[in-house]
Amino acid sequence: MTENNPSETARHALRLLASRRLAPTPDNFASIYYEIAGSKPNGDAQAAERAVLLRELCEQLACTVECFLPALGEGDTPVGPAAWTLIQACRSGSESLAGLNAKLAAFRQWLSLAMEDQSEIRRALLGLLQLVFENIGELSLDDRWMRGQIEALMKASEAPISLRRLDELRRRLTEVIHKQSSLKSKSIEAQEEMKRLLAAFMERLSAAAEISGEHHRQMEACAKKIESAHSIAEIAPAIQDALSATRWMSQEAARNRDELSAMKVKAEEAAAEVARLRKALDLASASARHDLLTGALNRKGLEEALEREVARAARQNSVLSIAFLDIDDFKAINDTHGHSFGDDALAHLAQVARESMRPQDTLARFGGEEFVILMPDTCLEDGVQTIVRLQRALTQRFFAAGDTRLFITFSAGVAEIGKDEAPMAAIHRADRGMYLAKRAGKNKVVSA
Ligand code: GH3
Ligand code: MG
Ligand code: MG
Repeated sequence: MTENNPSETARHALRLLASRRLAPTPDNFASIYYEIAGSKPNGDAQAAERAVLLRELCEQLACTVECFLPALGEGDTPVGPAAWTLIQACRSGSESLAGLNAKLAAFRQWLSLAMEDQSEIRRALLGLLQLVFENIGELSLDDRWMRGQIEALMKASEAPISLRRLDELRRRLTEVIHKQSSLKSKSIEAQEEMKRLLAAFMERLSAAAEISGEHHRQMEACAKKIESAHSIAEIAPAIQDALSATRWMSQEAARNRDELSAMKVKAEEAAAEVARLRKALDLASASARHDLLTGALNRKGLEEALEREVARAARQNSVLSIAFLDIDDFKAINDTHGHSFGDDALAHLAQVARESMRPQDTLARFGGEEFVILMPDTCLEDGVQTIVRLQRALTQRFFAAGDTRLFITFSAGVAEIGKDEAPMAAIHRADRGMYLAKRAGKNKVVSA
């Protein structure tokens, strides 16, 4: 191929240099350049061209190194200074080739060390993350929802990590943190209530002790009066005093007893309220994004995942397909084998789907016996093939419960989301495809 424009030729030569994995030395560059240009220019023209190309090559090198800088971090590694020295040398226009070569070699050496550091840091960070999850898990052993979330976090944080998984991690962790903090403030509230009750209880007890002390003193006084009495007439008022003191004390004791039992009722009510709140929170959090029966995303989770995947597809200019699945004759399965058998069959379908899907695909329960699968980077044709594969996987893994073995089949529609199409509109298209698959005899996949 012959190109007339030298800077076009230079760019082309750089690309070839990279794709052939050749070191970006001036000699390699020149030989590729002339290979593209088709001939070797002569004399001065050749020297001038070489100089232009060299300047361009130096600038490309400087830009490439600059691009690397943010990825190298801001630590105290010598790679930063080595990079700047090289960039300045590239742009100075007065650096000799040997000097450039030496600076490039120094930079490359520091770069390889820095890259090793980076991957070490990544590994250490993941380890740290796992440790944090383990610890949160230890703190919440009595909470089933939390334990489930922690297990999911641990699984999601295993290497290799991708941006998609990091995003999923962030969402789950936010939910866990939210739940932790609300549980904590609730339990602090409960503790405060218990402290208040305990303080009131102690007050009552000491009041009771004071009352019996007072009663004792009054009785002593009465006894003294009786002892020193000389006539019945003198004894009568003392007995009267003793009687009224005793009556007063028993009234006080009864009052104390009533108050204490009222307090006990209140304490029990507070404990029951905390337990109720906790349960409500469990349910609310657990059903926030996932369907409890199948573990698939629920409608809210699906909406979020759709939003995320549509944005990602737009950003990367890639395609996104969705499938709408509806189990065939599910009502008959329920009617014949019972509702709980039907429930287990739903969970079975979700399990097989998860196992046959790629990690980046998303399974959501749309409602009843309907599921939606999001397939990033998948065109319509591949989407249909994926769902046909899932149909096959289902026939290979029949559902067994007790003595019953059952082949579950589904009908599905697959749609590729259009560039400007609302995601829900695409889901409806897939739904219509599913309906056509039912009309065509069920256990079929139709592209919509
Ligand atoms: P088709 O092949 O045309 O889809 O027939 P179908 O019987 O699957 O469809 P239909 O819509 O008539 O029945 C769906 C049934 O799914 C009815 C409903 O009771 C059952 N169902 C919905 N949600 C659940 C669930 O969570 N558990 C169980 N066991 N059954 C469910
Ligand atoms: Mg249905
Ligand atoms: Mg159905």
